[in-house]
Amino acid sequence: MSPSSSGTSALAPQNVALFGPPGSGKSAVGKLLAQQLQRPFLDMDARIEELAGKPIPEIFAADGEPAFRKMETELCRQLAGESGRVISCGGGALVDPKNREVMEASGWVIFLDCPQEVLLRRTQKADDRPLLSGDKEAQLLALLEKRREVYASFPNRVDASGDDPRRIAQEALALLKTLGSATLRVEAPPPAYDVILGTALLQSVDTLLSDRGLNPPFVVVSDSNVAPLYAESVCHALDAGLVEIPAGEEHKTLDTIRTLYDRFLKIGIERRATVVALGGGVIGDMTGFAAATFMRGVRWVNLPTTLLAMVDASIGGKVGVDLPQGKNLVGAFHPPSVVISDSATLDTLPEKELRNGMAELFKAALIADPLLFEWLERGNGPATQRWIERALAVKIDIVNVDPFERDVRAKLNLGHTVAHGLEAASEYALSHGEAVAIGLVAEARMAEALGVAQKGLAVRIEAVLTRLGLPTRFQKLTVPEVRAAMSSDKKKVGGQLRFVLPVEPGLAEIRQTVPEELILQTLEDVKESA
Ligand code: ADP
Ligand code: ZN
Repeated sequence: MSPSSSGTSALAPQNVALFGPPGSGKSAVGKLLAQQLQRPFLDMDARIEELAGKPIPEIFAADGEPAFRKMETELCRQLAGESGRVISCGGGALVDPKNREVMEASGWVIFLDCPQEVLLRRTQKADDRPLLSGDKEAQLLALLEKRREVYASFPNRVDASGDDPRRIAQEALALLKTLGSATLRVEAPPPAYDVILGTALLQSVDTLLSDRGLNPPFVVVSDSNVAPLYAESVCHALDAGLVEIPAGEEHKTLDTIRTLYDRFLKIGIERRATVVALGGGVIGDMTGFAAATFMRGVRWVNLPTTLLAMVDASIGGKVGVDLPQGKNLVGAFHPPSVVISDSATLDTLPEKELRNGMAELFKAALIADPLLFEWLERGNGPATQRWIERALAVKIDIVNVDPFERDVRAKLNLGHTVAHGLEAASEYALSHGEAVAIGLVAEARMAEALGVAQKGLAVRIEAVLTRLGLPTRFQKLTVPEVRAAMSSDKKKVGGQLRFVLPVEPGLAEIRQTVPEELILQTLEDVKESA
């Protein structure tokens, strides 16, 4: 499946960086690994020689080690900002914690582990290693001693002591597969279920389900955009029939649910069948609701294909449909048996939908993950599966503590009090992600005005959202329209609008009241004058 978007996609594939001491085989193994993964290979030392126009020993001799390290740091930053490469790092490149951080944020770092004797043997002959000139053995031992702690601190390691680089590349590949997918557990509301996140998971959906005791009969529900892309292989793997419904939130209605019941009956679904949702949040919400109610409840599994559904809608067990009077007015708690998020499906997701998801991903960072906030703020790497995983963890942690939104779960509504007003007032011309982005800015400004948030937080939030391609101001609508629509939000408590306010990156608090004048003033501030 070829990506619909360019290489600047917000979700480019991760880099794989090999690191280890001199002689550990980073280049040889890296080249083989790149071949296997069908990714371009880059050797940092070779690239630096190319850039400098001279071999590394000469750079050391003429310009000194600091000049070389500076080039290394610049290259790390540049590579971390690109994506999808297999990189062989210089033996000292990731000793600098800043270099290490940018590389780790942009993908996987695999450490090639090798005992001293092997390294000594392999480096004896080389004369291209400036730090090992003269008495090589003594130099190498001193270097290893100096870097011992740093080298030991890399968590993802492969035994590189063998003499066959192909074997080592294979081991690295096996490690990547385990690193590449993560399983998180949602405990509440019960029954608990796993959320599996990884790439190319749909290809093994049958085993992932049967491993969890989920066996045929299955029926797959998808929409008219997603079905042509992914339904055939999923239905084939699961030996399942397909129910396809038209794409779009306007179809998230009781009428469509009725169609689903009809089709289920026609297919001959019985109580022990499992319904499989394959699509974005709309498909998940509707399929889950149909599963919750059909024959008083059948099992379902969720295969989300939008970023928004992966980081948000698929967690927490809420399912439902819209009524003409408002969104999500009819629903239930009916957790799926498992959620399988295959990040490869995001390759075909339109950019606009990706941005929607990024708004919720950023919201999660703002609520509870300062490091994720920092990654997004610095933008020094492509969005990766790791970002999704961290945003997921934020939501799961909160939902586990407070499944029915008695208190802390309300924090997930950060930005949403204003967002719901904007969405409703615009009659949903503004997408959810766009409205959340503007809502985050507005609520941060309120928090600053109230002295709840650090000064400058709103500006930082705006900068990140702008870089993500999300709006931070609304046009067209009037302040009274937006304010009135905010009041009809079903999340208000006892007639009072409830706000969640950001305090600092990674911290938010629930606030029952915000003075009316401040609400109106802030809405004025985030309205773009025509
Ligand atoms: P959400 O509520 O999660 O944003 P929707 O179900 O409204 O998601 O999906 C948004 C749009 O993207 C819909 O038109 C849907 O058909 C389409 N879509 C969903 N997943 C994919 C995908 N992986 N590739 C291409 N289009 C997709
Ligand atoms: Zn939301």
